[in-house]
Amino acid sequence: MLASLGIRGPCQSDREVRDSVDVRLLQHTPDPQLAVAVAARLCYAPVGAAELMEAMDDEKAERVLRTIMTSGHFSALEHASYTFAIDGVSRALTHQLVRHRVASYNQQSQRYVAFVDEPCFIVPPSIEADPAVREAFDAANAASFGAYRCLMESGIPAEDARYVLPNAMETKIVVTMNMRELLHFFELRCCKRAQWEICDLALRMLDLVEPTAPYVFMDSGASCRRGPCREGKMTCGGPYPRAPKRE
Ligand SMILES: Cc1cc2nc3c(=O)[nH]c(=O)nc-3n(C[C@H](O)[C@H](O)[C@H](O)COP(=O)(O)OP(=O)(O)OC[C@H]3O[C@@H](n4cnc5c(N)ncnc54)[C@H](O)[C@@H]3O)c2cc1C
Repeated sequence: MLASLGIRGPCQSDREVRDSVDVRLLQHTPDPQLAVAVAARLCYAPVGAAELMEAMDDEKAERVLRTIMTSGHFSALEHASYTFAIDGVSRALTHQLVRHRVASYNQQSQRYVAFVDEPCFIVPPSIEADPAVREAFDAANAASFGAYRCLMESGIPAEDARYVLPNAMETKIVVTMNMRELLHFFELRCCKRAQWEICDLALRMLDLVEPTAPYVFMDSGASCRRGPCREGKMTCGGPYPRAPKRE
């Protein structure tokens, strides 16, 4: 059916779906732990941040970070930020992502980008697992995209034609979050209670940032990584995939 519409089929398998997620760390504060440690230390120092920066070695920075991370005085974490390029995710995912308000976003526009080329539709694993369901899913997406093309060919502007496009359609987004927001985002979205696609994205983002600031991110993730699950009766009851590291 897709071929008859002249468009490429959606991602073909669960493996391909998961591999279609392309998240890259575009840039971050050059020495995030140092920036945070200096900002935190300034509160109690008689000298300025530039002087503290010169005097701050790894051992001192680690002591300050330990205090921050155990006390929960997280405001200094806002001095380090991270920018991610995220491709190959669904509109269903980005709708959830942008609910995180303490972040900056730019997303590929469905007003200014007219989709004439082959779209990719993100296929949830539950749908992928059943060939009959998958066929119905593909048919629905193909019908939506066919309707979109009809509307565009009839002169309807892209900003209106896009109303028929499905949540499954692939999109691209750039996100900048500071370290404090990342910890919060990971706590909510690395949790197994989170929807599978955003959970997968959050775990990938955590893998990317952890090496840049291991002392801050070592225990980051769902709340059960640091203590009892905070989801109450909604708990999954299962073990978190990343074991705690902080002593
Ligand atoms: C498992 C799961 C299920 C969900 N289900 C639903 C659902 O069914 N329906 C739905 O609508 N949403 C749902 N959400 C989204 C959720 O309600 C939040 O909108 C989303 O997780 C963003 O969280 P946040 O507001 O804490 O983050 P951010 O917006 O990034 O804010 C970070 C923190 O800043 C502070 N903050 C930000 N803005 C304000 C403000 N205006 N006033 C005071 N403090 C502020 C808060 O402390 C907040 O926690 C779900 C989220 C998860 C993880």
